[in-house]
Amino acid sequence: MLSILFLLIMINSNNYNIQNKDVIVDCNYTFKEAIENLNSPNELSSDLKLITVLYYSFDDKLHKGQIVIHKDLAKDAINIFEIIKEKKFKIAKVIPIVFYNWSDDKSMLDNNTSAFNYRFIAGTKKLSNHATGRAIDINPLLNPQVFKDRVYPSTAKYDPKKEGTITVNSFIVKEFKKMGWDWGGDWKSSKDYQHFEKLK
Ligand SMILES: [Zn+2]
Repeated sequence: MLSILFLLIMINSNNYNIQNKDVIVDCNYTFKEAIENLNSPNELSSDLKLITVLYYSFDDKLHKGQIVIHKDLAKDAINIFEIIKEKKFKIAKVIPIVFYNWSDDKSMLDNNTSAFNYRFIAGTKKLSNHATGRAIDINPLLNPQVFKDRVYPSTAKYDPKKEGTITVNSFIVKEFKKMGWDWGGDWKSSKDYQHFEKLK
């Protein structure tokens, strides 16, 4: 009985914590606002969901942010952010890309964590997995995409010793993989340390 009660509290804790007055609100969009001026096929938005997450930022304070993500992956994202919060792994900010006028570059340079963005893979005409909300980028300025001869974004530096950085031994990588996600840090042609995706 107690364990059922505990489980119910855990399930509701996502909502419960959000009302805490000590939480710094990084954004507070409605779903409609979070997909405003979206230049994408209309039917896409019915697959998306806006979720609220809590995380400790680099000021050591608890923050509230939001992610637009594919509805099938909402539970996974809430789950991973719950673990990130428990472990106090630092997340700079989590703000829907509408805030950056749908510019992935601006979002990355602001070290912003996000999922959905209807866009091409940088430097190509191929739709990114972010375009269906099936990928998440975490602390992109600390976890850039590292090619043999360059880093993207170019002002970023990958230093595994820095707080908020993701490495092969990170619990984040392990937890995502447990839920069937792939990590860009495992890629061969480049290492996209910020990137996690689950295509089905
Ligand atoms: Zn990505």
